[in-house]
Amino acid sequence: MRSYTGKLIRINLSNRQSQIEDIPEPLMKNYLGGRGLGVRYLYDELKPGVEPLGADNKLILMMGPLGATTAMSVSRIALVTRSPLTGTIAKSVMGGNFGAYLKFAGFDGIIVEGEADKPTYIHIDKDGIHLLDADELWGLDTQETHAKLRESHGKSTQVACIGPAGEKLVRYAVVISDRRCGGRTGVGTVMGAKKLKAIAVNSSGPLKVYDPEQFKKIAQGLIAELRTSPRRIKMSDFGTSYLTLGFEKMGIFPVKNFQEGQLEGVENIGDAELAKIKTKNDGCYGCMTKCGQVREVTEGTYAGAVSEGPDYETIWSLGGNLANTDRGSLIAADSLCDKLGLDTVSAGNSIGFAYELFQRGIITKKDTDGLELNWGNHANMMKLLAKIASREGFGELLGEGTRRAAEQIGKGAEDYAMQVKGLELPAYEPRAVKGYGLILATSNIGANHMYGRPREDLAGTTDRFADEGKGKAISRAQIGQAVEDSVIQCSFGPVTGLNPESRSQLLVAATGFNEFGDPAYLTQIGERVLCLERSFNVREGFNRKDDTLPKRMLTEPLQNAGPATGQVFRKLDTLLDEYYDALGYTREGIPSTEKLNQLGLEGVAKDIKKLGK
Ligand code: SF4
Repeated sequence: MRSYTGKLIRINLSNRQSQIEDIPEPLMKNYLGGRGLGVRYLYDELKPGVEPLGADNKLILMMGPLGATTAMSVSRIALVTRSPLTGTIAKSVMGGNFGAYLKFAGFDGIIVEGEADKPTYIHIDKDGIHLLDADELWGLDTQETHAKLRESHGKSTQVACIGPAGEKLVRYAVVISDRRCGGRTGVGTVMGAKKLKAIAVNSSGPLKVYDPEQFKKIAQGLIAELRTSPRRIKMSDFGTSYLTLGFEKMGIFPVKNFQEGQLEGVENIGDAELAKIKTKNDGCYGCMTKCGQVREVTEGTYAGAVSEGPDYETIWSLGGNLANTDRGSLIAADSLCDKLGLDTVSAGNSIGFAYELFQRGIITKKDTDGLELNWGNHANMMKLLAKIASREGFGELLGEGTRRAAEQIGKGAEDYAMQVKGLELPAYEPRAVKGYGLILATSNIGANHMYGRPREDLAGTTDRFADEGKGKAISRAQIGQAVEDSVIQCSFGPVTGLNPESRSQLLVAATGFNEFGDPAYLTQIGERVLCLERSFNVREGFNRKDDTLPKRMLTEPLQNAGPATGQVFRKLDTLLDEYYDALGYTREGIPSTEKLNQLGLEGVAKDIKKLGK
């Protein structure tokens, strides 16, 4: 008995048919699971040029081989599709309990195809897979949707759903399970285009593994070590909010749409202030850390607002990026985004873009439905979030994302759109951490912070301002992230207790596949996944020209950013060459035939050759 169920559900919403398929063993061995398997299926099944919001796009949800086991922090689920925001391949990893219960129901994944002719939801239970009418759910927010589905199917029902933003096709809509989010890249928008409101699962464990004794020994050993780990306990106490003040001091925390790097009053939205209104922890299946910080505003304009968060990214996007240091508004805005099903990073970045255009007079109150978009104005931030989700007035434009909005506005607005390949930048100033800049520029899904982490730059063991010599380390970081997303393990380093060796041992005990016992074998899987994602994009016309950063990063010295003041991203071309060389890509950013063959991607090599690349 392996920890894979070996089965996936394929659902066609157009003809309302579903079937159960076996997952071929070589696919598990070559792609592990999660992101890796999802990317392989998408590459094979999507014809080039498919419209992301059309019936021919597919949404793939995929678990990993350790998911639903008793190991710590390994039960997240990957969502893979073609992004309506970027046109590239998209991946997002969602926490919560949904994925574990999907495996308990007997499935490693779901492939959703076609497009329903009316609002629909999928219910999976011991009696089968049911496509049901979602008229009563359409228009509800994500919390109301969870409540309604639990009323219909029982309190233990696990749900992945979209909110009004997904229904209205805001290009950065998310999928939500309880308060956990498959954010970024518009995976919720694809669900909305398919008129799929939710997937609900009723099932119960446990899941069997290949070698239960050995698995228990390794998993429990890791848990025993983790119990007293100070770094893990810090995550439990503060979540990622503990990063804010340290990064702000380093000039990494972007302010006013990346115009500056430090913020007066930032301590009001730092970890200590947020901890004062924490009520409890929440988090994912099989995780003792439960990094989610449930916080409640007790006084002022936003009294009564409750959110599981905000995390560091959202403290930045709806806080620092807008020069907003009002703690209550941050909780209220985070909660509103979760209910509406909006990606907080792209939403906050898009609002920051609008605030800067207003500052510069490129747009005025005539364009913003009469709203004054002055830095720090959180009341109008709240109004804009609601407008974006309902695509009303000025919100219609911002719901398109910064790249498309800038194209429509003209007047030089594109210079202030902080995006890469159409995905809005996250909470890391590229000029202050050049390794991060290179990750964001080369990421195959656009500017996403979950596409590798420049750990050495952040830890100070390498010079974070250096303009050269980062290509190899960044390629390794991206490969490492691809492995983590395919296992799938939580990417918050200290919470799983796994290192390459223990991870390999655990995978062998879970799956019985001895190949996984060699950490180098897993690294090669990561490289294969990264290369396949890039090949997907090459097929869609992407190349070196798309591996870039906003003009501001390349030309404007960073202002008011402590030790990072004056930094510019001077040598992007040099760094790109280093990165491509490290991965065996041509100087055009295209995987070479030799590299593709070496990774066992001979069919992909033929596809690329046919394109004349
Ligand atoms: S640390 Fe947080 S994100 Fe990671 S598995 Fe635990 S609850 Fe989920």
